Amino acid sequence: MNVVLAETPLDIAALRAQFPLLARTVHGGKPLVYLDNANTAQKPVCVIEAVDRFYRERNANVSRAVHALGEEATGLYEGARDVLARFIGAGSARELVLTSGTTMATNLVAYSYLLPRLAPGDVVLTTVMEHHANIVPWQIVCQRTGARVVAAPIHANGELDVAAFIGMLGPQVKLACVTHVSNVLGTINPVAELAAACRKHGVPLLVDGSQAVPHLPVDVRALGCDFYAFTGHKMCGPTGTGGLWARREILAQMPPFFGGGEMIREVRIEGSTFADPPARFEAGTPNIAGFAGLAEAVRFLEGIGMARIAAREQDLLRYATARLREVPGLRIIGEAPHKAAVISFMVEGAHAHDLATLLDLEGVAVRSGHHCAHPLMRYYDVPATCRASFAFYNTEAEADALLDALLKARALLA
Ligand code: PMP
Repeated sequence: MNVVLAETPLDIAALRAQFPLLARTVHGGKPLVYLDNANTAQKPVCVIEAVDRFYRERNANVSRAVHALGEEATGLYEGARDVLARFIGAGSARELVLTSGTTMATNLVAYSYLLPRLAPGDVVLTTVMEHHANIVPWQIVCQRTGARVVAAPIHANGELDVAAFIGMLGPQVKLACVTHVSNVLGTINPVAELAAACRKHGVPLLVDGSQAVPHLPVDVRALGCDFYAFTGHKMCGPTGTGGLWARREILAQMPPFFGGGEMIREVRIEGSTFADPPARFEAGTPNIAGFAGLAEAVRFLEGIGMARIAAREQDLLRYATARLREVPGLRIIGEAPHKAAVISFMVEGAHAHDLATLLDLEGVAVRSGHHCAHPLMRYYDVPATCRASFAFYNTEAEADALLDALLKARALLA
């Protein structure tokens, strides 16, 4: 239970001191201003040490050995499942499949849940603002079955057209999918409202929580969705970690997607029987060190408090947005009233990649490109945007540095 009050101010300097990489310089001594957190977050010492400690002191495989090390490794891995399940509000750790990230989670749902249920004429409902990880897996299984993917529209300010989304629900829809927070627009979608509408129509809802779990308090049961996917590296954890939460009764109906060791009950050459979820979906040796690190990341985030993280990032969003508006010709893409600290922008007369390259020379790391969201780029009729994405460890001074670098770049490019 997180009892930290959102109002208690954070000691940002002390927090930053726990992230070695934030002290780095680039391009001949320029202090790094890391504003690419939606891409991946930096890691605190406790996470780095947990991974290091695993390989130095505990390296063994899970579930296969009765020796002390094997038991310790298994304890770490299953302990991480417990920590993560509690963190996202799961009813039980048995509802949480540990995956390599969101992409693995959506593909698991596509092949194990959706594919056996699809028939010609069926529909998967997604939205125009989704990451490719929440579009392409559905397209691949739809192509095999004669079903199709349709996308709910958004409003020009980057808000989901909720009425249109709900209007597109119906008996032909076999799965609805929506991002909790857009990685490009920052829009926070009204997931609980969408889940209630989906339930009324008997349509299961998958939520892509990649950009939500690191930034907001998340309670999957309170949201009322059926699947919730997230990725560890955006929440200060190691790459190659993440999870898929699903209702127990849904997981119980899903056949395995990957076969191999650890996911079976009994194997004979004529056929096999499978373990109960979640082991059924975790064939092979998992990223044990990574999950040891991810459990530490969760403890670290909980130590700060997700409410305080959300409040701090809202302050940064307000401050940085106001500062960016000072740049002549700068257009922000995504101005939903309810949004996370992600600011996509374009500057008149400058290509996003050129801009990002010049910002980088000043030490300011932003992402430029399509952000794995081609349909959204098409909707706004732009080839690419620059994106500054903040984390709780960023500062107002870094937003100022972004502004200064932008003004300098603009002068060069104009
Ligand atoms: N969905 C969203 C909204 C994302 O931002 C990302 C990562 N950029 C993903 C899915 C995919 O996450 P991963 O590559 O870690 O599987």
